[in-house]
Amino acid sequence: MGASEWQGDADPATAARLGGPGLFEEVQDLVQVGTWEWEVATGRLWWSHQTDRILGAAVGAIAPTYERFIEAVHPEDRRVLWHRITEALEGRQEFDLRHRVVRPDGEVRYVRGQARVRRSAAGTPVTMLGTLLDVTDDALLHAERDEAVARLAESEEKYRLLAENAYDVIWTMGVDGAITYVSPSVERVRGITPAEAMAQTLDQIHPPSTAARVAEYFGQLYASMAAGTVPPTYHGEHEYYRKDGSLMLGDLQVTPQVNSDGQVVQILGVTRDITAQRQFEEALARSEQQFRLAMVSAPIGMAVVDLDRRFVRVNPALCLMLGRSERWLLDRGIADLFQANPEADERDRQVRRQLLAGIDSATNDERMVTAAGEDLIVTHAIGLLRDEHGTPLWYVSQFVDNTETRRAQDQLEFLATHDAMTSLANRAHLLDVLATVLVGFQQGGGRPGVLFIDLDNLKGINDTHGHAVGDQVIVALAEQLRISTRPGDLAARIGGDEFVVVLHDLPDVRTAAEMAEVIQRELSAGLATDGGLIVPTVSIGLALAESADDAEALLTRADQALYRAKQAGRDRIAVDDATRDGG
Ligand code: GH3
Ligand code: MG
Repeated sequence: MGASEWQGDADPATAARLGGPGLFEEVQDLVQVGTWEWEVATGRLWWSHQTDRILGAAVGAIAPTYERFIEAVHPEDRRVLWHRITEALEGRQEFDLRHRVVRPDGEVRYVRGQARVRRSAAGTPVTMLGTLLDVTDDALLHAERDEAVARLAESEEKYRLLAENAYDVIWTMGVDGAITYVSPSVERVRGITPAEAMAQTLDQIHPPSTAARVAEYFGQLYASMAAGTVPPTYHGEHEYYRKDGSLMLGDLQVTPQVNSDGQVVQILGVTRDITAQRQFEEALARSEQQFRLAMVSAPIGMAVVDLDRRFVRVNPALCLMLGRSERWLLDRGIADLFQANPEADERDRQVRRQLLAGIDSATNDERMVTAAGEDLIVTHAIGLLRDEHGTPLWYVSQFVDNTETRRAQDQLEFLATHDAMTSLANRAHLLDVLATVLVGFQQGGGRPGVLFIDLDNLKGINDTHGHAVGDQVIVALAEQLRISTRPGDLAARIGGDEFVVVLHDLPDVRTAAEMAEVIQRELSAGLATDGGLIVPTVSIGLALAESADDAEALLTRADQALYRAKQAGRDRIAVDDATRDGG
């Protein structure tokens, strides 16, 4: 029974006219044809008792639904079924499909489904009316052939689906040279429809040089076909014209398809648009090149470091700075720059953890050691490179050697706080230190004191031996003060022949006085100067801090004591009145 003959009577309304569902069902049982009706817009599905029987279900036991039907269809046949239904709804082809159903007990049955679509006046599908015929016995007879046919149908189906949904442009050409198919993707890739593409000549598809190469291949292919030899394949990159005249770069693969006799029956081509990919590769290569160039010519040290802190790339400036070869560095990592400096290494790890956590860049000033063992002070800036998804790739490090700058800075700072001739602290520095020491004392620290020291009769030495010898005496005294003071004490030169020693943590006046005596005693051994042996003497004023003292007050009291020492005849120690009273 042909589907179209039958379908005129298939709708329930007609069935009702024929005497209600009862009679209709009977007719169906007779011919063993199941029927169904699917209301496309609502999805409502109705099917006959015979359909239930074909699907292996008890009559009326299950409510017909689309899902229930699909469930009954063999899983391997569902896709083709769906595709055919779609085609039928779109009016491309009438539905007529042999497929398998699986009954609840696992038995596989072969069925033939046929259907017709009813449309509204506007052409919209309204219902789909179908028949279902169990053709298992027939199918078993031809099982083998059916299997093969089904497989072929499915593979054709897959191939077509692939072609139509592919990103690549797929095309076929007959042996006569006429294009027989171009996939819809040509529209996206070249801006022309498949029909337009099929009508183009080689010269319209490719610029001349490419057209010539493709033509040459087809020459070889036809020659091979004429000679009956194995046909050549082709693979190359080509420019294609887009609709707007711009050029697209395509990767073209041509494969002649042969039948079992080895004869070419069709030529299959696949063109992949690699324009963007190539542009990306070129841009990448360019930026890579720029980066390399920047590294090589950079005046500062640069390195690419992997996530394990090993060097991946280093530049000549870094090698020069560290006195290391490129190989030496590439075999090692950042940690090797911080030899014997575990704190710096830990700081470096810390910074990298912060970078991974999201900060942009970080800078550390660190001590590093050159191959020759020299200390460097290096400003180390680190950034983290991530890929387009934000995944960390590499660290990029910049190293600026600040050793000289730092030395110059240190030098300036020293000059600002020290006396050039003796290298002792100057007056300003003395006042600073004294103020700090006094604050410590007021906060319960040990008691400080000062020795105010003035060379006796330097004018006379100058006059007798010359100013240079006077200078030597000053420098010698400075040296003596440096030697005599304890660590933490401070000796300063605050005027021509005036010195102050700040003593910390004094238990009593006696201790301070003994220190002053040591200075005197050491000087009494005499100094070898350019003017011969000179035995200088000094007068010393001693004062210990009172809790109310500021630096100036304490110095003034020591100066007053010194004045008394001078008054009393020089070469002696005088203790400040208040200190004496208090001590
Ligand atoms: P007094 O025993 O009273 O200290 O006598 P004095 O000659 O040392 O005189 P005073 O301390 O009052 O003055 C210090 C003198 O030391 C003044 C100056 O002639 C000399 N003088 C100051 N600065 C320098 C210096 O840098 N080099 C030399 N050679 N002499 C200096
Ligand atoms: Mg003097």
